[in-house]
Amino acid sequence: MRIGIIGAGQLGQMLGFAARNLNAECRYLDPSENPPAAVCGKVIQSGFDDAVALVALADTCDVITYEFENVPVSALQHIDGIVPVYPPAAALRHSQDRLAEKTLFDTLKIPLPGYHTVDTRKDLDDAAENLGLPMVIKTRRMGYDGKGQFVVRKPAELEAAWLALGGESLIAEQWVEFDYEVSCIGVRNVSGDIAIYPLSQNVHVDGILRHSRSPVEAPELGAKASDYMHRLLDHLDYVGVLALELFVIGDELRANEFAPRVHNSGHWTIEGSETSQFENHLRAILDMPLGSTASKGHAGMVNLIGEISDATRALGIGAFHDYGKAPRPGRKLGHITVVADTAGARDALVKIIDKTVT
Ligand code: AMP
Repeated sequence: MRIGIIGAGQLGQMLGFAARNLNAECRYLDPSENPPAAVCGKVIQSGFDDAVALVALADTCDVITYEFENVPVSALQHIDGIVPVYPPAAALRHSQDRLAEKTLFDTLKIPLPGYHTVDTRKDLDDAAENLGLPMVIKTRRMGYDGKGQFVVRKPAELEAAWLALGGESLIAEQWVEFDYEVSCIGVRNVSGDIAIYPLSQNVHVDGILRHSRSPVEAPELGAKASDYMHRLLDHLDYVGVLALELFVIGDELRANEFAPRVHNSGHWTIEGSETSQFENHLRAILDMPLGSTASKGHAGMVNLIGEISDATRALGIGAFHDYGKAPRPGRKLGHITVVADTAGARDALVKIIDKTVT
């Protein structure tokens, strides 16, 4: 079996390592020279919208998937029909536009923060009036890791938000005073079987994921998230891994966004689960039985961002993953996962690692 992956970053790399367990081979398409996944398989170096290269990939693979959500939907449409493309384009389309994503949550009765579309300066004033302050203004498209966002706390800041982001299609969201953030990682295979991992609790710094811990000791939240995940997966006739990010307020959840792909908050599953999210994504798109999503213990994952310090390299704690990328501020270069017998022991290890991270 040969799997074509659009994008050859670290997610493609970890999919490539998982493919070896399944005796499958990965081939990639990516515009960059020597991307992380090049260690796992051949890379066709080309733009994501290069129709000729996309067809060349599809012609030599049994199934196509993608590792990030800013792949143009038109790219998938070029090759759909040559070979199956998973996750389905409809899921990608919804995840690329925050308005479409929120409309989908509404349709599926998945609770979410109040929102208001903003196309004009007047819309921004109306949003402040309807939602109240603080609110967060986000670009509808191409936002990730907190980019393209502006928090408006006072009416006087509306103008600055407009100057920073106006001119693009925007969405205003109620500011949520959440207790903490979680993500739910679910997977559905071609036959429609579903498996869901225990929730991860996620901490972001400057909009970028800093660490994740799982499981979350809150069964009622897990049950709610699992219900929302089933609704999304079945409605989209989804195939592959999907990550749903949620805010926790008491025993309530509010959906923030979803990603139609393997997710950073699920990296701990490589060492912390019976089957990793990467292997289960491949099992899903190859229509194999899904592997168990049971945890092996209390897992913690710390992202290594910007640069990997000598102190971090010298730690010798947990499983160290270096994606082989050049250092750059804000760039995810690697991560460390620990698995412990108790939540307390896991948290202590996460704290030690976190202290060495710049
Ligand atoms: P996003 O790109 O939408 O995932 O936002 C990045 C991070 O910003 C989230 O993980 C939250 O920590 C924070 N954030 C985004 N939207 C809101 C909101 N409506 N209320 C409070 N915090 C938010």
